[in-house]
Amino acid sequence: MLPFDYERAGDVRQAVSAGIGAGQGQVDAPVQYLAGGTTLIDLMKLQVLTPSRVVDLKGVYSHFDRIEPGPAGLRLGAMARMSSVADHPVVQRDFPVLAQSLQLAASAQLRNMATLGGNVLQRTRCAYYRDPSWEACNKRRPGSGCSAMGGVNRNFAVLGVDDSCIAQYPGDFAIALVALDAQVELLGPSGPRVIALEALHRPPGRTPHIETTLRSGEIITAFTVPAGPWARRSLYLKIRDRESYEFAIASAAVALAMEGGVVRQARIGLGGMAYRPWRAREAELQLAGRPLTESAAAAAAATALRAAVTHGDNDYKPELARRTLVRGLLQAGRMEV
Ligand code: FAD
Ligand code: SF4
Repeated sequence: MLPFDYERAGDVRQAVSAGIGAGQGQVDAPVQYLAGGTTLIDLMKLQVLTPSRVVDLKGVYSHFDRIEPGPAGLRLGAMARMSSVADHPVVQRDFPVLAQSLQLAASAQLRNMATLGGNVLQRTRCAYYRDPSWEACNKRRPGSGCSAMGGVNRNFAVLGVDDSCIAQYPGDFAIALVALDAQVELLGPSGPRVIALEALHRPPGRTPHIETTLRSGEIITAFTVPAGPWARRSLYLKIRDRESYEFAIASAAVALAMEGGVVRQARIGLGGMAYRPWRAREAELQLAGRPLTESAAAAAAATALRAAVTHGDNDYKPELARRTLVRGLLQAGRMEV
């Protein structure tokens, strides 16, 4: 790890002014916020992230770690621990997809340490990105190429990819958030603002090293999830190489509003498939107004993966994603709510 200055923010104003320079998920950002540290410290040890200053948010946790259910929906402080939200009885009952996405993520020790904000901003697990001895990585060294394109790319993205980077977004919680139309509350040097979770991550394009739409110094303070008739009939189905703890190779966040076996509205997020938490809107529309049969679910899953592009080792992924989504939809349809 390279030397860096450490600053522990005592209040949020201090955090925001000390954090100017942080943001956008940039590899070369000179300042990084520290929450649980389970992504940041790893990447600093690997010398993938080399900030000259780290601003510790622990001093402001108590203002931003509340779990607040209400008639309009759920508000989750960005500094709440993953385990606190996963274990919360109201979240488990009214938004099961959120609780399950957290429960199935990482290990118990990590969930006790890591925060919601840090989870959503975690970086790709691309092995070429995480190992600076590989010269070519557009995300780590802009313009250097992509080692994964012709390399080992078994668990790489198939939706929304382009030639600059095929890294997948690895998290689980954000897949559930995007399915439920969550919003992100931010606080920065120019004040607060709110954006859709779906607008937080940027496509790789010409700047794969800039991963989010956060502005310099902005802190995520909360996530809000609107109440909806689909929220209780929701689940997170995660497929991974081992059950103890592992990142998803495919996942589906499914939420359904149903009436007498007919889908009134569907909400679908796909994980392990794209550079960002992926919303399958066309598939949702296709399901609306139809009985939830296996063939209707299969047709919607085919639509969701129609644009998939593979690179060899990951040729299996579209079929796995289709099967995951069909299973998720049918399981959600059978839920007692
Ligand atoms: P940090 O490491 O402190 O921060 C991460 C990034 O976010 C940093 O850039 C930091 O500057 C920034 N940041 C943090 N909080 C804020 C904020 N409020 N505002 C602005 N910027 C902020 N995740 C899954 O989803 N599923 C898994 O299966 C899974 N498995 C894992 C297995 C292992 C072995 C490990 C090490 C991690 C795994 N993870 C998994 C990732 C883990 O969940 C994340 O590392 C964790 O959630 C990050 O949260 P943190 O609070 O520790 O963030
Ligand atoms: Fe780098 Fe993206 Fe290619 Fe991985 S997939 S080597 S992160 S450019």
